[in-house]
Amino acid sequence: MQLYSYPDSSLWAALQQRPAAAEAPQVAARVRAIFEQVRAGGDAALLTLAAELDKATLTSLLVSDAEFAAAAAQVPAELQAAIRQAKTNIEAFHTAQREPELRVETMPGVMCSRRAVPVQRVGLYVPGGSAPLFSTLLMLGVPARLAGCPEVVVCTPPQADGSVSPVILFVAQLLGIDKVVKAGGAQAVAALALGTASVPAVDKIFGPGNRYVTAAKQLAAAEFGVAIDMPAGPSEVLVIADASANPAFVAADLLSQAEHGPDSQVVVLSDSSAVLEQVQAEVVRQLALLPRRDVAAQALASSRAILLADATSMLEFSNQYAPEHLILATDNADALAAQVTNAGSVFLGHLTPEAVGDYASGTNHTLPTSGYARQYSGVSLDSFVKKITFQRLSAQGLQALGSVVEIMAEAEGLAAHARAVTLRLASLDANASPAGAAATKPYAGLIRPSVERMQPYSSARDEFEGMAPVMLDANENSLGSVGPDDFSRYPDPHQRAIKADLARLKGVMPNQIFLGNGSDEAIDLLVRLTCTPGQDAIVICPPTYGMYEVAANLNDVRVERLPLTADFQLPADAAEKLAASNAKLVFLCSPNNPTGNLLAQEAVETILRSFRGLVIVDEAYADFADAPSWITRLAEFPRLVVMQTFSKAWGLAGLRLGVAYASAELIAFLDKIKPPYNISAATQQHALAALAAAPRLPEMRDELLAGRSWLVAQLAEVAIAEHIFPSDANFLLVRFTVDATAVYDQLQSRGIVVRNRTTQPGCAGCLRLTVGTTAENSQLVQALTEIGAETRVSIAASASSI
Ligand SMILES: *Cc1c(COP(=O)(O)O)cnc(C)c1O
Repeated sequence: MQLYSYPDSSLWAALQQRPAAAEAPQVAARVRAIFEQVRAGGDAALLTLAAELDKATLTSLLVSDAEFAAAAAQVPAELQAAIRQAKTNIEAFHTAQREPELRVETMPGVMCSRRAVPVQRVGLYVPGGSAPLFSTLLMLGVPARLAGCPEVVVCTPPQADGSVSPVILFVAQLLGIDKVVKAGGAQAVAALALGTASVPAVDKIFGPGNRYVTAAKQLAAAEFGVAIDMPAGPSEVLVIADASANPAFVAADLLSQAEHGPDSQVVVLSDSSAVLEQVQAEVVRQLALLPRRDVAAQALASSRAILLADATSMLEFSNQYAPEHLILATDNADALAAQVTNAGSVFLGHLTPEAVGDYASGTNHTLPTSGYARQYSGVSLDSFVKKITFQRLSAQGLQALGSVVEIMAEAEGLAAHARAVTLRLASLDANASPAGAAATKPYAGLIRPSVERMQPYSSARDEFEGMAPVMLDANENSLGSVGPDDFSRYPDPHQRAIKADLARLKGVMPNQIFLGNGSDEAIDLLVRLTCTPGQDAIVICPPTYGMYEVAANLNDVRVERLPLTADFQLPADAAEKLAASNAKLVFLCSPNNPTGNLLAQEAVETILRSFRGLVIVDEAYADFADAPSWITRLAEFPRLVVMQTFSKAWGLAGLRLGVAYASAELIAFLDKIKPPYNISAATQQHALAALAAAPRLPEMRDELLAGRSWLVAQLAEVAIAEHIFPSDANFLLVRFTVDATAVYDQLQSRGIVVRNRTTQPGCAGCLRLTVGTTAENSQLVQALTEIGAETRVSIAASASSI
């Protein structure tokens, strides 16, 4: 072995080189000639090549029944028992690799599944000759059988007397494999790839072999459409042995690899020079005892013992080398194993020689060599199956997914793709019976009949979009505006520019966005879209935002109340109550105003599943909360509407711009009933400028949240503040120990206005305090502290006067 002490990391790449495959071009040419010979001559060519290369005169290529019958008697009982135990272990580990069929409904009505189906015809190459590797047949045959491959063909070279190793035949019988072909080398691979009268062509070829077999597998893969298990090279082991290692064990592991062949590669890393010296001495001592010492000695000549600084360097070296086998001969093998990124199979601790994995622990010994462990796995059950995916759309699924695919296909210029969807969608519309429509249409019975019937107002700007040089269609003032800025033209009624930017920011499609003159307009239109005055109802969950009820009252719509619990969450029976309600919509405010808290996700989900009406989640304060927006769930829940606003985190309350996100179909209904020019040109301009500055949003939010934290900390010290409710918004709900309305009045007399919420359900004694600037926050705390002190004085005074 060659010893390297603390090599500089610039030298590592050279030390990680495998022995070069010298005569590759000659091998490739010879293999190609053999393929040609097998293609032209079939079985006869295989017989000729067996005589020529294996020195075997064969009468038949296939192992006969008589040969199978005679095999077991020639295998010692002890070896039979050992093989049975190994098979049991390999079966146990590979059976556990079976995966159940995967089924996921990605959207309602879009069912996707994946199922493992065996490769139909597999060829297993088992090297024979001087050392018949029957263990390879176990390692390949067990997973092939477990996967259920219908056709399994084994090829193995004949011995000079025309027989095949009885142990290989014994294992084949144990596995129920009855097709064993007496063919080795490149000609066996050629037969499996091309097929002959006796050898069926297969879909995938497995198994190790010499340079010719490897080159033949590569040719089969490159030119004959056959898959192979993996690129194969000479076997290799890397041992990481620290001061805790047993030098005799390490030397034995190195030799067990070296005896595979002269080109086997053996590397040992240590951070202890004493251990490296002892390992080398042990290698010399044990080598002399080996029957295959000549082979092992050749392999050792090109092998390396490397002294490195510490465990980190050893792991780094190993991960770069990507060994087929990695032995961690250390006390802390588990900790090191966690950091292994490239290796075929890993052997942990002092009592786990590589040999156990070669035969019988249960793991597979067909592993990637030559550094391929960087990107390949060893053979497993997966190597013998393909994973086929399936999908089925119901009418509902097609309606939900159709426009997504149409839009994407059109954007890629693939019109036929889009048509494949469009045609089907049209046939659904044409065939929909009223009853069928109710089953598949998520808004059946939800849209107010008068809205469904009405014709929307068609504005002048709608027809021509201001494109012509002379626009005399809208009774605008072509002379210009009174005042400094030109607002003489009506604005874009569809607000396309804003929607394009918002769509990008929020990950939705532009036609899933409705813009209102504040959220308040969206709230009003949602009520009017669904509720017939004097007949229908909405549900609110007090304490909550007042505009929901105002919108209902204004439209002569009844209000059903589903009060929140004492900690301001949805009650446990909320979904049940809503499922029984005929209300057209429910408003859920999260984070809620005036309480500040988020509503529990599961509770909202349950309502989304069970309620037949629209579920409006008002996320006016979502930017301050650490929770994903419900916008990400729109595809799942067609009756979900998410409202956001530019009024809070964006700091644009004066713009009056609120947003509703929902399915394209629902947004189209809102567009139908909105006033045509509800978003002014000034608002549109400012909103676009704000959207361009969106990256500043997190910074502002963080500053506000810092202010909130400061306020919470300060209020905890204010004597009259009894409870500060946890808040995910830019305000705090605070319960006072004294009359909150008196505190409210006193604040007002000091020039500070807050929100008195004492009359809201569950909010007795509470004021709502908006987080302000640093100066405003200090004034507020100062004022409350003073009010507290005065209150104590007056209480003390009234007490003493009694
Ligand atoms: C402030 C607020 C809004 C915003 O309304 P705009 O009309 O967009 O300003 C919406 N919902 C709730 C719960 C609010 O507190």
